[in-house]
Amino acid sequence: MLGTNRDSFTRGRSSAAIRWAADAMTNLPEFSRAKRLIWSCRLVVVVWFFAAAMGLFVVGLAIGIPVPRRLLVGTWWAFVVWGFLMIALESTFRCDHCRRRFMIEGFGAKHAAARRRGRMNYWASAIADVMWDRVFTCMYCGHQFRVST
Ligand SMILES: [Zn+2]
Ligand SMILES: [Zn+2]
Repeated sequence: MLGTNRDSFTRGRSSAAIRWAADAMTNLPEFSRAKRLIWSCRLVVVVWFFAAAMGLFVVGLAIGIPVPRRLLVGTWWAFVVWGFLMIALESTFRCDHCRRRFMIEGFGAKHAAARRRGRMNYWASAIADVMWDRVFTCMYCGHQFRVST
């Protein structure tokens, strides 16, 4: 079925393959809460940014760079507060097809057609797909959806 394994044809080099990929994209069903999903993914990127900043500060401290305490504490709280908001928002999204919370990655088995980007987990892959390709695959049922801007 079109859309369940996008990689197999987007890797192709011929322009026909690319056109076919573009057609498959536009034929995908639009996710019902597309705008909200895009905003939630932007929020996730912000939270990742705070996490990365924390990591840098900790490394900085470890190698003796004086990191201002207020900067450290401020970044930590920003990470915690925005992180909770992020989880709350992510848990409101349900797949239009299987109704499962596709932005919450549980420990259970995922669908065979669920998508991962390289070594990223299913959740991070879905966020990258939304941010860069405006598309995502439900990790629980494998259906693909389009998210328009
Ligand atoms: Zn689903
Ligand atoms: Zn489904």
